[in-house]
Amino acid sequence: MQAGGLAPYVTAMSDISKKSLVGLSREQLAAEMADIGEKPFRAKQLWHWIYHQGETDFAAMTTLAKPLREKLAEHFVVRRPEVSRMQTSTDRTRKWLLRFADGNEAETVYIPEEDRGAVCVSSQVGCTLTCRFCHTGTQMLVRNLTPEEIVGQFMVARDSYEEWPSPMDGGRLISNIVLMGMGEPLFNYDNVAQALKIIMDGEGISVSKRRITLSTSGVVPMMRRCGEELGVNLAVSLHAVSDEVRDRIMPINKKYPLAELMRACRDYPTNNARRITFEYVMLKGVNDSLADARALVKLVEGIPAKFNLIPFNKWPGAEFDCSDMGQIRKFSDFLFEQGYSAPIRQPRGSDILAACGQLKSESERIRCSRQKERLAAGIEDGHNVKMEN
Ligand code: SAH
Ligand code: SF4
Repeated sequence: MQAGGLAPYVTAMSDISKKSLVGLSREQLAAEMADIGEKPFRAKQLWHWIYHQGETDFAAMTTLAKPLREKLAEHFVVRRPEVSRMQTSTDRTRKWLLRFADGNEAETVYIPEEDRGAVCVSSQVGCTLTCRFCHTGTQMLVRNLTPEEIVGQFMVARDSYEEWPSPMDGGRLISNIVLMGMGEPLFNYDNVAQALKIIMDGEGISVSKRRITLSTSGVVPMMRRCGEELGVNLAVSLHAVSDEVRDRIMPINKKYPLAELMRACRDYPTNNARRITFEYVMLKGVNDSLADARALVKLVEGIPAKFNLIPFNKWPGAEFDCSDMGQIRKFSDFLFEQGYSAPIRQPRGSDILAACGQLKSESERIRCSRQKERLAAGIEDGHNVKMEN
């Protein structure tokens, strides 16, 4: 296993051509075993080593006979994304810039709390949506992440904190997962679903669906499937109470306007213990009046709901300002008085640009400068990268 995960995970050249076993479903793993002439039940043993023990070296999988270990190493690898860069904030938030096999990169963040913590996972490189307040939204979509790359983000975090084998007693540093990194998870539903099923599997990583939250900008047609098939907690990036304002700041609203979005929320499987979180970014003079707060309460009527008020994190070139703290508190107090939980999210890791909506800046800057270096050296990498200075 990679010691502590602190050194970048280096993949030997001979391993690049080998298929990684990470991210395959149990059935796909059994099919791979059959392909090399092994009994499908080997998949169960491998599953345990890969996802419970966190082992990346076949030679160390001691419950498998030596010839089988050698055969596995001949055909496969247990790959991690390469850690291009790791930064730890003064508030202990940690961010990894991860580089995938094709050179594309995405960011993953760990947000520690007192006795637990959440990994914030990306689902795409970039995003096709262009929410006006979001820095990721200014980056073109490069591609969807694969199940291997989504599960791999979580595994890198586990490596980094040496949290293997998967602790079974509940005292985990990395206890929760939020799909709130780069990208819109419901536009990459199949890969996200496959990754989450692996992460939820009780014989491996074993994070319960109660500890997983998927955040969507409101991809209405996929919300039902997400509820029925995955049953994870849902967070909806609402951010406005009228179609007029939401159309302006979140173009997806033109396709799925508020009435449809709220209908999909009403249909989502919830109960009092499992409420939908409505995320609401506080934009000065745009959506932060008490009239907005009143309209918000009306909008969610009948839905088991809680709110998460996010002070706007500014980035270079952003056209908005964050609401004044006093106004955010008034907004929050009003919602509390109406019986809703409405905490103000503390920006975490802003010194390392790890806070909500800040992901991209640095990775794209690094990527662009690398691309410029490659171009200067006469090597074209062919990736769809938007150049910025
Ligand atoms: N694409 C998904 C998940 C990723 S964004 C979605 O939009 O829900 C995670 C959260 O950060 C969303 O609620 C998003 O609206 C919010 N966000 C984006 N940019 C932000 C910014 N600059 N400041 C604060 N929150 C932001
Ligand atoms: Fe994409 Fe979410 Fe950012 Fe909107 S807020 S651009 S959906 S990542």
